[in-house]
Amino acid sequence: GAATPGAAHLLARSAARRPDHPALVTAAGRVTYRELWDLARRYAAVLREHGVGPGDRVALLLTNTPHFPAAYFGALALGATVVPVNALLKADEAAHVLGDCGARAVVCAAPLLAVGTTAARRAGVPTVLTVQGDGSGDVPDLDALAARTTPIGTYLERAPDDLALVLYTSGTTGRPKGAMITHANLVMNVTTTVVSPFALRGDDVLLGCLPLFHTFGQICGMATCFHAGATVVLMRRFEAAEALRLMTAERCTVFMGVPTMYLDLLEAARRDPGRPPLDRAYSGGAALPVAVLEEFRDTFGCEVYEGYGLTETSPVIAYNQPGRPCRPGTVGTPVRGVRVAIARADLEGRIEPLPPGETGEIVVRGHNVMAGYLGRPEATAEVMVDGWFRTGDLGVLDDEGVLTVVDRKKDMVVRGGYNVYPREVEDALGRHPAVAAVAVVGLPDERHGEEVCAVVRPRPGTVADDALAEEIIAWSRARVAAYKYPRRVEFTDTFPLGPSGKVLKRELVARYAGHPRPAPGPG
Ligand code: ATP
Repeated sequence: GAATPGAAHLLARSAARRPDHPALVTAAGRVTYRELWDLARRYAAVLREHGVGPGDRVALLLTNTPHFPAAYFGALALGATVVPVNALLKADEAAHVLGDCGARAVVCAAPLLAVGTTAARRAGVPTVLTVQGDGSGDVPDLDALAARTTPIGTYLERAPDDLALVLYTSGTTGRPKGAMITHANLVMNVTTTVVSPFALRGDDVLLGCLPLFHTFGQICGMATCFHAGATVVLMRRFEAAEALRLMTAERCTVFMGVPTMYLDLLEAARRDPGRPPLDRAYSGGAALPVAVLEEFRDTFGCEVYEGYGLTETSPVIAYNQPGRPCRPGTVGTPVRGVRVAIARADLEGRIEPLPPGETGEIVVRGHNVMAGYLGRPEATAEVMVDGWFRTGDLGVLDDEGVLTVVDRKKDMVVRGGYNVYPREVEDALGRHPAVAAVAVVGLPDERHGEEVCAVVRPRPGTVADDALAEEIIAWSRARVAAYKYPRRVEFTDTFPLGPSGKVLKRELVARYAGHPRPAPGPG
């Protein structure tokens, strides 16, 4: 295809238009757009000296610091493909990613250097550079080199189909796969969503608490804010009390997070009377219980928009959007340029759209659908059918084209031949006054194949005993059909969470399967 500015332009444009506006706020101070683009071009110069060129893969093993966007846009400016690596991975897992993408170089935060160098050695990555180091290590320090070098002039233009990113999926349901995101994917998703749903303007301030290696924080948060010339207040990692304090101190107008963060913020807000001047909040990545949405809206006095997307769809598919009626419990309508259909369960190489009101697999087409999984033509063929991308999620469209995500196909529980969608049961249980958070899973069961189990985090100060378990079972029994209500309730203080803050249901299943606990009450 023809040359286009490509994704590096997202930052370069704001550096030209509003050079002195803060792009980032960190504990160490503010970074203006001019400074960030200058650092990115210096990083690019150093990477080029180390042999990185167009089409090469540059892996980033970085936390939420200014080094992340600097290396990201620096590598993009060279025409290289960026591979953000989950900063929580162990050396083995990181080596898998580096080898899988054939990384030419890895840029590694000093605290992650042990993992990064081990993984790079195993995967045969020729170049390792560190940042935030004290300059005493064996690995060349990118910052020290960048300070002495002449920045590259500007970015290389790219064809729309050139790869901008290889994004590894969260691994919530299995081993991460590398989704190939083109420059057109990235630029189109950013330039579309910046208008609606995010409605970002240059004076917006976003709390950047989502990890930058994950698509939600990276594309919806960082890249979209940079395109708008807005400010991102970076948090190294999310912690609710600190998030509240930062949002108030830095006068944040926008919050973006996954549902677990909404729960934690509400708990923190019960102890802290301070309220940041939030104008709107965006949730995604997993289902946001309606009760949580409503409590957040009332507590913080801002609208809460829930949306839906996947790593493979760059990521946004649908959102509740400002200017349209907000429909809690739904993920709104597809964003501009994206089509959604509900397909019959057994697809067999064809997509047959189902009428409104019927539940089936959510399939998507449009500018946001990835080019495929890197090096996995078979996995790609499984998800790309008839020009549509299969999400693996079950959903339903209403007459007005509003989408509801029913659940992941993989999380559906089949109890005695009946399909139980955990999310529906979670919504009911989440309204019980003693329940702070809940995840519903299917556990292997001799009689029914699978049995519905609710794993509950009780509200602080609640006595979590058998009597409460029985009460919760009775409560849900009164609210959902007989085949759906949990026969078993387990209490926990901690849910196993994935890198982006999602509950890892397969780990809950592993935790409780094979540890039968006699169910109290009838069943
Ligand atoms: P992996 O694909 O490696 O198992 P993952 O599916 O968690 O991990 P992501 O791309 O981070 O990878 O997440 C996309 C998934 O998140 C969707 O397929 C969907 O199941 C879920 N999801 C996203 N937004 C919502 C939402 N608003 N409601 C319900 N589920 C959502």
